[in-house]
Amino acid sequence: MKFLHRIYDIFFPAKCILCQKVLRSEETDICNQCRTHIEEFPTPRRKISFVARWTSMWYYNDNVRYSMLRYKFYRMSAYGQVYGRLLAMHYSTKHFCDYDILTWVPISNKRKNRRGFDQVELIAVSMGQELGTPAAPTLKKIRHTKKQSSMQSSAHRKANVLGAYTVLNPKAIAGKRILLIDDIITTGSTVSECARVLLTAGAKEVSAMCVASNNK
Ligand SMILES: [Zn+2]
Repeated sequence: MKFLHRIYDIFFPAKCILCQKVLRSEETDICNQCRTHIEEFPTPRRKISFVARWTSMWYYNDNVRYSMLRYKFYRMSAYGQVYGRLLAMHYSTKHFCDYDILTWVPISNKRKNRRGFDQVELIAVSMGQELGTPAAPTLKKIRHTKKQSSMQSSAHRKANVLGAYTVLNPKAIAGKRILLIDDIITTGSTVSECARVLLTAGAKEVSAMCVASNNK
C-alpha cells in the first residue's frame, strides 16, 4: 500500500491550497510562504445585527479568493476539511466564544444538488471533528435566493435573504448559545438573517465565524 501511495504522490502531489505550489515534505496544506504572507483578518469593528460577535480567519483577497472559488466551483471538496481544521485552530487561538451548538449557514437543496455538496457544511463538520463537538444542522434554507454577490446594495442583500431560512427544531436550540459558521461574510446580511431566525426561535445568543471576509 505504501508503494501505491508513493506512486499516487508522484502523479498527484499535494499542493498548497492557496497558491497551488507543490508542497515540500515538511509542509502541510499550506506552503510556508503562504503561511508567512497570508493576510489575517483584523478584529472586525463593524457590528452585524443580531450577531453577538463575529470573526473571520482570513482576508478575502488574492490567493484566498482563488482557493475558495476552486473549492466551490471545481469541487475541491478536500479544501473544506482543511478550512475546517484551520478554523478550529483560529477559534482556539482567539478563545473566540463559548457555545453549546456548532452549526452552519445551509445552502438550498437546489444548489446542493447542483454542486454535489454543501460547502459550508463540510467546513463546519471538519471544524467540529477537530474541536470534539460535532456540528449539528439547525437551519434549513426554504427559499432559493439569488446570489448575494449579484446584489447591488446592502438593502438588496438584506431583502434577498429575508425569510429564506427556518429553524429545523426550535426545542433543540432553546436557551442555547450558537456558533454559526459561514464560508464568506461580506455585508453580513446572510448570517444576520440566520441569527435573527435562531434568536426568534429561542436561542440565547448567536456568534459567527467565517473562513474569509472583505468587510472590516
Ligand atoms: Zn502557498
